Amino acid sequence: TPAIITIDGPAGTGKSSVSRRVADRLGARYLDTGAMYRVATLAALRADADLENPDAIADSVADVEMTLSNDPDSHAVTLAGEDVSGEIRTDAVTSAVSAVSAVGAVREKMVALQRQIVAGEFAVVEGRDIGTVVFPDAELKIYLTASAAARAQRRHDQNLSQGRPSDFDEVLAAVERRDHLDSTRALSPLRPADDAITVDTSDMTIEQVIDHLVELATD
Ligand code: C5P
Repeated sequence: TPAIITIDGPAGTGKSSVSRRVADRLGARYLDTGAMYRVATLAALRADADLENPDAIADSVADVEMTLSNDPDSHAVTLAGEDVSGEIRTDAVTSAVSAVSAVGAVREKMVALQRQIVAGEFAVVEGRDIGTVVFPDAELKIYLTASAAARAQRRHDQNLSQGRPSDFDEVLAAVERRDHLDSTRALSPLRPADDAITVDTSDMTIEQVIDHLVELATD
């Protein structure tokens, strides 16, 4: 069994629920690195940093103290001791996260912390650059993808089922915008590692994806 399993890919592929449940099935630890960039973004927003100024963003994130659990059954996330697990999922954070995660000093801090949180553990680590930058030597690397339309449809259905107003075209535009920002940025752009196994989830259920990944991990 490999020590670190990396799961990268864009938003809306079911990556987070899949990754947690694969970790559960394998008895592994789990780390959601997107949550870390979201905490950094919340810190920058609270400090009222100018999001067009990378130095200002870097300053506002430099002394941030965050904790994350590496238990797949826990969503615990704190910023300076405060539970921010709900607040990091707000639209304000989602809209600003691409700007904050494009800053080199922020990425360096997050990558160091990521390596520390799962040091010596058997863990599933999910994000955008885990197989390319954070754990380039991982033995099993998965790249989860799906068409933009399929990903937007899932987000749209999720909004409606949670009673939130949702317009499919707007959701699709937001998905495409974040994909574009994440895959064209200079630092650690979103792309599959050369040795990653790409899994297209457009026509798969969450259960099918989980079973497939568990099979790959236990082969
Ligand atoms: O996974 P999630 O959608 O919560 O990630 C939020 C944002 O954090 C992404 O859109 C991306 O800008 C950034 N991110 C990153 N590197 C990672 C994980 C997330 O740049 N490893």
